[in-house]
Parts: sequence; structure tokens; C-alpha cells
Amino acid sequence: SPAKRPMPPPQAHSTPPRKKARLSNGVASAIQEQRRELPIARGREALIREISANEVTVLIGETGSGKTTQVPQYLLEGGLAQAGMIGITQPRKVAATSLAARVSLEQGTPLGGCVGYAVRFDERAGPETRVKYLTDGMLTRELLGDPLLSRYSVIVVDEAHERTLRTDLLLANLKRILRERNGNGKQKGSPLKVVVMSATMDAEKFSRFFNDAKILYVKGRQHPVKIYHTSQNQTDYVDSAMRTFFQIHVDQPPGDVLIFLPGQEDIESLQKSLEMFSRQLPIDFPTVLIVPMFAALQASQQQDVFKPTPKGSRKCILATNIAETSITIPGVRYVIDTGKSKEKRYLAGPTGSGFDTLLTRDITKSSAMQRAGRAGREGPGFCYRLYTEDAFKQMAAAPEPEILRCSLAQAILQLMCVGQDIQELELMDSPDDDAIISALKNLFIIGAIDDKRRLTPLGLVLASFPLEPAHARAVVASKDLGCTSEILDIVSVLASSSKLFLDVSDKRSEIADGRRKLVHPSGDHLTLLNTVRGYSAVGITDASASAQEGAGKAGRNARREWARQHFVNERTLREAANIRDQLRVSCERAGIDWRVSCGDAEEPVLLALSHGLAQNAALITPDGTYKQTAGQQIVKIHPSSTMADKKVPAIIFDELNAALITPDGTYKQTAGQQIVKIHPSSTMADKKVPAIIFDELVYTNQIYARGVSSIQKSFLASLGAF
Ligand code: ADP
Ligand code: MG
Repeated sequence: SPAKRPMPPPQAHSTPPRKKARLSNGVASAIQEQRRELPIARGREALIREISANEVTVLIGETGSGKTTQVPQYLLEGGLAQAGMIGITQPRKVAATSLAARVSLEQGTPLGGCVGYAVRFDERAGPETRVKYLTDGMLTRELLGDPLLSRYSVIVVDEAHERTLRTDLLLANLKRILRERNGNGKQKGSPLKVVVMSATMDAEKFSRFFNDAKILYVKGRQHPVKIYHTSQNQTDYVDSAMRTFFQIHVDQPPGDVLIFLPGQEDIESLQKSLEMFSRQLPIDFPTVLIVPMFAALQASQQQDVFKPTPKGSRKCILATNIAETSITIPGVRYVIDTGKSKEKRYLAGPTGSGFDTLLTRDITKSSAMQRAGRAGREGPGFCYRLYTEDAFKQMAAAPEPEILRCSLAQAILQLMCVGQDIQELELMDSPDDDAIISALKNLFIIGAIDDKRRLTPLGLVLASFPLEPAHARAVVASKDLGCTSEILDIVSVLASSSKLFLDVSDKRSEIADGRRKLVHPSGDHLTLLNTVRGYSAVGITDASASAQEGAGKAGRNARREWARQHFVNERTLREAANIRDQLRVSCERAGIDWRVSCGDAEEPVLLALSHGLAQNAALITPDGTYKQTAGQQIVKIHPSSTMADKKVPAIIFDELNAALITPDGTYKQTAGQQIVKIHPSSTMADKKVPAIIFDELVYTNQIYARGVSSIQKSFLASLGAF
């Protein structure tokens, strides 16, 4: 069993000499100078001393003071990585990878050497690694194979104020591990130290949780920030952000601008309009340099935000709340805050049904203050809030811990694999019984647990995949159905961090033409499979056509061109290919042959998917709407689905009303600006099929199913979904 794994040998003595990365002396000394100038540097000795002396330390310090990059290095330099690694957790992948890159540069060692990282589907760490940045999810996964985290001597839980589900589970486990590793008498392995770091003043709660742990404060260097509110509520924050940016650009002295937006889609749409309008500026205006910053960006692109702004230009960073506390971008003097962020929230339905949605919501006061603070790091700054002062006053004080508002299925499954029961775990905040029951129900439907709430052998296999249980279930089902190759192609796209299909609203009809050949009549999953196959076929034909020099490059160009013509996101396809490689390894471990393909047969693929998505199914009702099989919710097919309303630029309806299509695929009335839906009775409405499965439900003005496929009703009946 995983718990009985032998303890790895202590690495302190066997560590090979550190490889130094080549850096010019000038660059290296400039970096050391920057390190010494950080506010936290003055506290270096005290920090090493206090953390050495205490089992648990809570460290509070303003964003940008140097906590995340410096504390692990101080501990390394202070000799605390002798008996094991220093692990630092981050809620977000981008933060973990980009901070590891920075810290390895500061240490003068190549990334993956002394300083490394591990995030889902991507790891750069080796036997030399002493300081490892990981997502909180990765570290909770490591518990599966190493329940005492025995490879670590210090765990730094960073960004603890965000209270993600994984962070909360980790904190609960750390409390247990501290007892087992440091407990009086029967000690197991070397002692462990825990450092909890947060940017906000919520220290007491963490301290109390760890038996009144010592609290340390780092003084920041915050300059005053002048805050402006709008006098009226803004209906279109993307448009309003664009106008505010150009006002700043035209009227205000130099200084970079940081715009906070809820997600990737808004970032990409704002980027397009900013690019378009900045081309129309008179030539004597400073050039606008637009840099996006969101979770799905590749590592190389993430580093772009840190490049110094060239003279005579103004950088405009478009970021999600990643730039709120986890990443500090230098040079920012102006902040534009839309007041929105995306938040995962579980919508509970009747009888234990419910679903996770990603909602664009108002931020909290604490976030609004953090966002404004980003403008005052290097000098006095300005924050333009795109909401009224009243709206600010009505915001909640701080976000609710994620464990109280999201689906617990995957977490409960992972806990069960290490013999833990969420209801017995000592958590900072415990979830409702309803949420637990609903998660158990999901796990029961996919066969991960039995009717006595016991983990099944299948459940153990499902947990071994770095996938949501539903997707893992589809992979396992594909074994007997002979379509593993197809299912891996599909779930690796679903597991990647950005959307596959680009939506360029001004090119809607071109897109329809470009993608027509890919669209599969059964819906989105097989359309997605067609896309993956179409894209990889470009590579294969090209590579075999000429083995000569340059064929690789030609192949890359051909694939890029293919992606462009079909309006698909090549980044997603490349990420998915990487994920697929790793899933193949998981398959081999689980005894599933990933090469097995069903060719062009569609039924096995849809049936395998139905095994996983059995709780995400809906049946058509006599009035043409779909009703969820679990929970009886009425769901609409999301406008982005190939199964949704036919997409045309403009429609007219009874009595000369007219509506135009909007970028998100809904229709907006020309007079009155109402969103209108096509009535199910219309020939223009959603395709009518007896039963559907879907990847997720999203809730905007109504409940939509996204990622939809038509399936045979008998599939669902055979799976006991209704
Ligand atoms: P905190 O965790 O207290 O918010 P950090 O340790 O993240 O502070 O940041 C300290 C400094 O390191 C900041 O000034 C930030 O701009 C800088 N920094 C972080 N990552 C990079 C990077 N990839 N390139 C350049 N500077 C960086
Ligand atoms: Mg930090």
C-alpha cells in the first residue's frame, strides 16, 4: 500500500554540486541588488531565526514585499533544506511556474536544478531540487504516495488568504502530519516546519488553527494611491475599460497600466479593441504595448510582463486576479479595476443534485483594495474603479472559502484513497452535509464508491488519473469499448487550460465556413476529436513527405496555418498533446492500452463518454426544452455549442422585431437591448435530439449546458442515470 512506501534516503549529503546557469556578471549582480532592496530583506535574519525556532509560523506581508521569492531562498541559505526539500504551494499554475523561473535565476541555477516546479501535467524538478514551487493541488496529490510528505523539511503554504479547496485540505493534512512527524515520543521521520503566508491581515485565524502559531509581519513600502469611482454603474466593463485606458494614455504622464478583468475571454476581446484603436493614434503618441496575463498562457509568454517597457511606449497589462496578490509586475502606476472576477460556485439543486459553475461576480472589498494597491508599489499611483462608491460599499468583505462553495467529488475521492473522511478531517471551515451528499452521489453514479460509501477498486483507479473523476471514468470505460485513443484525444483537450475554438466575433461567417468540415453531427465531443485528428494529420503528412532538413519547420508552419484557417487555438492543441502523453503513462500504469482505436465508429466513443458524464445528462421534453436527468433542472444548450441555435448575424421575428448576434452567441434586440432566445418551436432553434450529455453547466442569465453531444437515450438508461 502507498502508506508503507520506504522513506527516501536523506539527500543532504548526496546532493551533487550545483550547476550554475551562465549569466553575465552585470546581470547577476543587478539581480542580487534587486533582492537586497526588497522590503523583506531587512527581516532576513529574523525570519530564518523565527522559522527555525517555531514549528508553524504565519507570515503576513504586503504583495510585492518579497515573501514568495525570498522566504524559500532564505530558508535554503539558512540551512533548512538539509533533511528534505522546501515546498512552496501556489493556488495557480502560472504563479508556480513563473516564480520558480525567477527564483532559479536569482539562485543562478538552471530551472529544474536547485529550484524547480511541479504543476499538473508539467514538472521541472530533479534529484538536485531543494526548492520546489507547486500548486496546492499537486501537493495534495503527492499525499497519495507519501502521506507524511517525508521528502519535505519545510512546507510554505502561500496565498493562504485565497482559501482554495486544495489549500484548506492541505492545511488540514499538515496539522495531522505535524502531529505524526513532530509529535512527542513516536516520531516518524524528520521534523516538519510549516510557514503560512498571506497578503491580507487574516493572520489570527491561521494562527488559531495551528494552536496559536507565531505571527510575523513584513512591513511593505506602499505609496499612496488615489482612487476614483464612476458616478454611474457601467453595463459594459470591457468597453468602459478601453475608454478609461485611452483617457489615461492621452492625458496622463508615463507609467504602465494594469487592467483587472474576470477571464481570458474578456482579456482577448479587450486586447483586440485596444490594438485596433491604438493603431489609429497620431504617430507622436507613445506606442501602446499590450501584454495579457492569465492562467492559460505559456511559460515563455508569462515572462513577457516582466520585460522592461521600452522608452517612448506605455505597457498595458490585461490580467485576471492572478496579478492581485500572486504576481507583482513592476512599473505599474495606473490600475483599472472592472470590479469583476470569475469564481467557481456550486449551485445546489434539489435532492442532492447540483453543479459547479464559473460565474463572473463582483469582487470583494479585500480584492478591490489589493487591486488598487498594485498602483502604488514604486511611487504614488492611481486606481480607476469602473464601479460606483456605493457598489464598493456593498461588496462582501472577503471571499468565502472555496470549500464552502464548490463541488467536493474529486476532493472526497482523493481523501478516500488515503483513508480519510472529509467529515472527520480537522478543517478550518467544514462544508455542508448537502454538498457532501451530492458529491458522494456523483461518485456513486460513476462507480467510484459503493452503496455503503466505500471506495471501490474502480474508484482507486479513477483517482490515479490526474483528471476529474468523470473524465477518468470515460478513459476507463474506453478500455472495454475499444476506443481509448479517441477518448484520450478528447479528454486531453477538455483538461487543457484554454478553449479550443477561438471566437472572433467580427468573423463569424468565415469561422462557420472554416470549421464546417470539422463539425460532427453528434455534437461537440466528436467535433473536438475531428479537430485533434485534422491537426495531427497535417503534421504526419508533412513529416513523411520530406525527411529533409527543414521539414520540421515546414510541418510546424503547416500546422499553424491549418489552425488559423479553422479558427482553432493552436496553443490548446499543443497543450492537449502534452497532456495526452502524460495520460498515456497513467493508462499504462492502469493496464489500459492507449493505442486501441475504434477508427471512425462514433458509438463506442459516445458511450464511453456517457459513462463519465452520466450525471451530466438531459432528456428532451414535449415542449422542446431539455431537462436534466439528475435534479430536473431545465437546461439550454450553450450558444457556443455546435448543437445550439443556428448562428446567423441577424434575425427578424414577429411584428418586425429584429435582433443581432453578439460575440457570446446570444441575440440582442436592436430596439431595447434585450437578450432574446429563439423559441424552441422555431426551425432556427437548438437541434432537437432525444438525449444529450454535456461537459458542464454554466449559469449566466439562465442555465446552459456547454460541450454537448447527442446520445442514444438507451445509453443513459443502461447506466442507470434516470
Ligand atoms: P510577495 O510574495 O511578497 O508578493 P514576491 O516575492 O512575489 O513578493 O515579489 C518580489 C519581487 O520580485 C517583486 O518586485 C516582483 O516584481 C519580482 N519578481 C517576481 N517574479 C519576477 C520575474 N519573473 N521577473 C522579474 N521580477 C520578478
Ligand atoms: Mg507572493
